[in-house]
Amino acid sequence: MIPVQAAASDEKLPASADVVVIGGGIAGVTAAYALAKKDLSVAVLEKGVIAGEQSSRNWGWCRQQHRDLRELPLAMKSLEMWGDLNREVEGETGFRRTGLVYVTTKPADFAEWEAWTLKAREYQMHSRVLTPAEAKAMTPGSMPDWIGGIHSPTDGRAEPWLAVPAIAEAARRLGATLHQNCAARGLELAAGKVSGVVTERGRVRTQAVLLAGGAWSSLFCRRHDLRLPQAGVRSTSFATKAAPQVTDGGLSMPGVTIRRRLDGGYTVGLGGRGLVELSPQGLLYARQFWPTLKKRWTGVTLGIGRSFFDGPESFARWSFDDLSPFERHRTIDPPADPRLVQEGIATLGHHYPALKKLEVAHSWGGLIDSTPDGIPVISAVDSLPGLYLSTGYTGHGFGIGPAAGQLAADLVAGDPPIVDPHPFRYSRMIDGTDLGAPGML
Ligand SMILES: Cc1cc2nc3c(=O)[nH]c(=O)nc-3n(C[C@H](O)[C@H](O)[C@H](O)COP(=O)(O)OP(=O)(O)OC[C@H]3O[C@@H](n4cnc5c(N)ncnc54)[C@H](O)[C@@H]3O)c2cc1C
Repeated sequence: MIPVQAAASDEKLPASADVVVIGGGIAGVTAAYALAKKDLSVAVLEKGVIAGEQSSRNWGWCRQQHRDLRELPLAMKSLEMWGDLNREVEGETGFRRTGLVYVTTKPADFAEWEAWTLKAREYQMHSRVLTPAEAKAMTPGSMPDWIGGIHSPTDGRAEPWLAVPAIAEAARRLGATLHQNCAARGLELAAGKVSGVVTERGRVRTQAVLLAGGAWSSLFCRRHDLRLPQAGVRSTSFATKAAPQVTDGGLSMPGVTIRRRLDGGYTVGLGGRGLVELSPQGLLYARQFWPTLKKRWTGVTLGIGRSFFDGPESFARWSFDDLSPFERHRTIDPPADPRLVQEGIATLGHHYPALKKLEVAHSWGGLIDSTPDGIPVISAVDSLPGLYLSTGYTGHGFGIGPAAGQLAADLVAGDPPIVDPHPFRYSRMIDGTDLGAPGML
């Protein structure tokens, strides 16, 4: 299990709230925090524990580098916000502006990075492409002959196990209530608008609901006849015990990424080596995901498993008076693939002799929720007034979390948005407009 810091819970559900947030991952808690700062009353419902799912299982990279250009402004705002967050939330998020480095032996990677760097300059985002000698100088002790790299000095790293609970606690200090082990079963409607949320512990009256349910958002939407194309990709990561310092930030190399943690260990990621389980939801949205599958998921394996019958991608049906799938699965906790863990250790030892004797502290799986065009939905749902979505973060919601939460809160409150929300509109998911192929992640 992930050693996520526990957040305090409020036992008593409020009878009403200005806003109910469904989901206690980074998308939900950053929005709750921003809403509470606007003096709105907020109740956060989390079926398991704060940050139990993706938000504690991620690698902790906070980056603008290689972001899809449609969401680069959001990523840049987030990196500004991370810099102030420890002070703001009066807690330790683990954020350090260490910069992030990518190095490669593959010409195609390098060409892509060069192209991205040029385009990103139009947004005043300055990453630096590295020559082979510079790449080597930035990775002292590494063995491969890098053909180049890229460095983004204003990016950084944070500690998912600490950051999300710290932001949740800060929201709570501002008056938000947090209800863990409390699933939302569905929405109550009156005159075609949201009028409340039905939870396993009773009802909360509200005119505004922000659904930030991660991999569960599509299932929740289906219960209300709303289409939300989402696909889950299962991936493996692991944490090492304290190990020699070869980087202070995040370092991506072919086949493996490492991120230094505050405790002196590394969080190791195996990018692009996921598993997609065939599921009814997957089949429903297969046509929309096909271009992504061809372009980006080349290292992904297709399989069939429990998701076909159970879990967030099944065609579950439930009544509001009965146990919902959200209560049957408090926390998605997929196992790590032990072969990938061994492969990661071997690759690291090969790249860095200093890391040959790494000891694994723990390993885990995570289900990444993706959209067909690779950027999230942060938007009102026009056909159901009162419902807002903040979901579909496609493997990079942690780093852009602070600004994403602010944007969601701005939309709910009807305030001027922190960035142009157009790229994140829900309507693109249903009318197919502008579902361009995903940009660079
Ligand atoms: C292995 C891995 C590595 C990653 N690395 C990075 C990285 O380095 N940098 C980065 O920026 N991003 C990374 N990501 C992606 C990032 O973790 C996610 O994009 C982000 O955490 C999504 O946050 P979320 O709040 O949308 O979803 P989640 O964290 O999944 O939270 C959703 C929450 O909603 C709850 N919920 C769902 N339905 C209900 C309901 N009906 N009632 C009550 N509660 C409900 C769930 O229990 C869950 O806790 C990575 C992800 C993984 C899995």
